[in-house]
Amino acid sequence: MPHLITGTTKLLGVIGDPISHSLSPVMHNAALAEMGLDYVYLAFPIKAEQLKRAIAGFAAFDLQGFNITIPHKQGIMAELAEVSPLAQSVGAVNTVWRDGNQWHGTNTDVAGFIAPLKRLDRDWQNTEVLCLGAGGAARAVVAACGELGCGKIQVVGRDGTKLQTFLASWEMPNLTVHDWGAIDSLLPTATLIVNTTPIGMYPKAEVSPLSNEQAGLIQGGAIAYDLIYVPRPTVFLRQAAGRGAMAIDGLEMLVQQGAAALRIWTGVEAVPVGTMMDALRGRLGI
Ligand code: NAP
Repeated sequence: MPHLITGTTKLLGVIGDPISHSLSPVMHNAALAEMGLDYVYLAFPIKAEQLKRAIAGFAAFDLQGFNITIPHKQGIMAELAEVSPLAQSVGAVNTVWRDGNQWHGTNTDVAGFIAPLKRLDRDWQNTEVLCLGAGGAARAVVAACGELGCGKIQVVGRDGTKLQTFLASWEMPNLTVHDWGAIDSLLPTATLIVNTTPIGMYPKAEVSPLSNEQAGLIQGGAIAYDLIYVPRPTVFLRQAAGRGAMAIDGLEMLVQQGAAALRIWTGVEAVPVGTMMDALRGRLGI
């Protein structure tokens, strides 16, 4: 039954620019309805120059909490009373909540990324991570791999200056950065290979960050994790599965980062992850 919006309904949302493509309202409202909670979740298009005013407005009408997407994930930090140490190390906030009159922020992408890995019985200390790409999502991946206790975390990128800036922003002795050309030498021993680039994402879905020759270097027992969730599977995950590797796509990460945010806002641990996943699949037609 659709949720009845009344005079007591509380408001959650997501801010970004653009935001009309956001899948968050679909999955959050499905979860809130299933949980029987009197909230609605809306998407707010907010221009960067309007961010300050928007946050003041949210406080004025008692918005309970919100997600943040491009281009506000960094800019929002200046508007918050407190940014969690995790969000500080990732350098981005994607979830904000109210405590009295103050806004607090954290990053739930790390929890989202880690969720499917935590279910696996693996020796993380002996895991060699190969992270393809050094952008925003790669930062959540590095933080998550640090939390798992991965022995080696190796990030490859195509821009040497960005890679050095990336490396300098972490205090992690087991983190190294490498030029894109190092993939051939890193792949044969990598046991967790993560694609954090948009290569292979719909609508340019027929490409992979790895050539077929490179994919032939993937170990049979490795985990291949693609943050992309459309298409399912990506060419990269098909290549890896062809080598006998375990394939994980980005859909669960998307759902679990949302579930982690819902737990923060509502205080309810039992979030219906399956319902959120079904709502997304229905919306995406996958
Ligand atoms: P981003 O900050 O723009 O980072 C993208 C990275 O990919 C950058 O390092 C970029 O390098 C690199 N890259 C792009 N094209 C490349 C190419 N042709 N060759 C080599 N490197 C290339 O983007 P993001 O926010 O991290 O997102 C990356 C992907 O993750 C997207 O597909 C996004 O949808 C996905 N994602 C999924 C979830 C989820 O919940 N499943 C969450 C976050 C992100 P340069 O810096 O040199 O351009």
